Amino acid sequence: MTLMSFSACAQSPTKQKKDTLMEKKNPYYNPNRKEAVVVADDVWKTILSPEIYQIARQKGTERPFTSEFEHSKEVGTFHCAVCGNPLFKSNAKYESGCGWPSFFEPISKESIIYLPDNTHGMVRTEVECGKCKAHLGHVFEDGPKPTGLRYCINGVVLTLEK
Ligand SMILES: [Zn+2]
Repeated sequence: MTLMSFSACAQSPTKQKKDTLMEKKNPYYNPNRKEAVVVADDVWKTILSPEIYQIARQKGTERPFTSEFEHSKEVGTFHCAVCGNPLFKSNAKYESGCGWPSFFEPISKESIIYLPDNTHGMVRTEVECGKCKAHLGHVFEDGPKPTGLRYCINGVVLTLEK
């Protein structure tokens, strides 16, 4: 119990520090922007952390069960960590058990881009950020009601704004 409360206390300042650093370093992070964010990958590479760059720009996948957001019950809005685009509300998040943060619906149709993905011998639908085309994850048709969809999203490319 002592250990648990210690780690809970220790996490919060670290997270804030990370966010502040990111906003300073990333001039394209702006939740209020309306237009598309078009930036070359070699520029992103100098702006984003290696973890975010690898997933967002190179379609990587974080290791399952590693995201702090997977079991998070915090209330707020999940934004694209690359450009700040609002993507999912916390009330659309659910426990899918798949190892990544899961949502049954995005904030709006326009917040997401859908693309066919036939890599790795699977037929899947890739989801990207509607504003900066960051790779977010995939959407599957085995989610809960009312949509029946499971947006399986890499936590690395999400920021939670409370
Ligand atoms: Zn974005």
